[in-house]
Amino acid sequence: TGDNVSPRRVLLKLSGEVFGGGRVGLDPKVVAGVAGQIGEAVESGVQVAVVVGGGNFFRGAELSQHGLDRARADYMGMLGTVMNALALQDFLEQSGVSTRVQTAITMQQVAEPYIPLRAIRHMERGRVVVFGAGSGMPFFSTDTVSAQRALETHCDELLVAKNGVDGVYTADPAVDPHAQLLSTLTYADALQRGLKVMDATAFALCQENDLGTRVFGMTEPGNVTRALRGETIGTLVTN
Ligand code: UDP
Repeated sequence: TGDNVSPRRVLLKLSGEVFGGGRVGLDPKVVAGVAGQIGEAVESGVQVAVVVGGGNFFRGAELSQHGLDRARADYMGMLGTVMNALALQDFLEQSGVSTRVQTAITMQQVAEPYIPLRAIRHMERGRVVVFGAGSGMPFFSTDTVSAQRALETHCDELLVAKNGVDGVYTADPAVDPHAQLLSTLTYADALQRGLKVMDATAFALCQENDLGTRVFGMTEPGNVTRALRGETIGTLVTN
């Protein structure tokens, strides 16, 4: 068509909480719903990568409080994210969206290894890439991995889907009835006002590399598709 505007490419972070519907294990209805919404965005030409959390199975920091070695507990946490990645892949494929899982810990029978250039190629061909097993390194979080993968695969934006809140507020809305939703915010302001956007390592990566983050609530039906397509919902955090 002679149109050389490059397509929108985004990285969506889905926490383990999303997969479990707030409980331990998987809530297939919720995962199917999210997969359907991702499929709609892909159909309209958005290139999508997903980083999945694993808090619905194990969190290393919590396990280590029960006496497990922290690093080993973190590996258990990372393996949990792979189960979420496979569940998401399954529902995406069921809704007709071609999907590849890439893991930071190699498990050849189950997924491709993390190869950034190949991930980009997949997205260019309309495939969703789901990144599992975190960074493969203990003491990191999937928030941090989201920022890192978004940067390495040249995503335009990081999208953080939340359960319960629909963005960043001036104060904790559960505590302060006067808390207001912010539609835009700078990283510097967030730091100065002590507003929590994501964990500190992820935050620093985004700020230092000028990657914008949109935090949005996924309770409202269709919000995942809206965020993927670039609609202005939730809070956009930039430099
Ligand atoms: N994890 C890790 N390194 C990583 C990513 C994750 O060790 O690079 C482990 C860590 O134990 C973490 C667990 O995997 O608690 C699940 O990830 P996370 O807590 O980020 O998931 P979410 O809170 O998004 O569900």
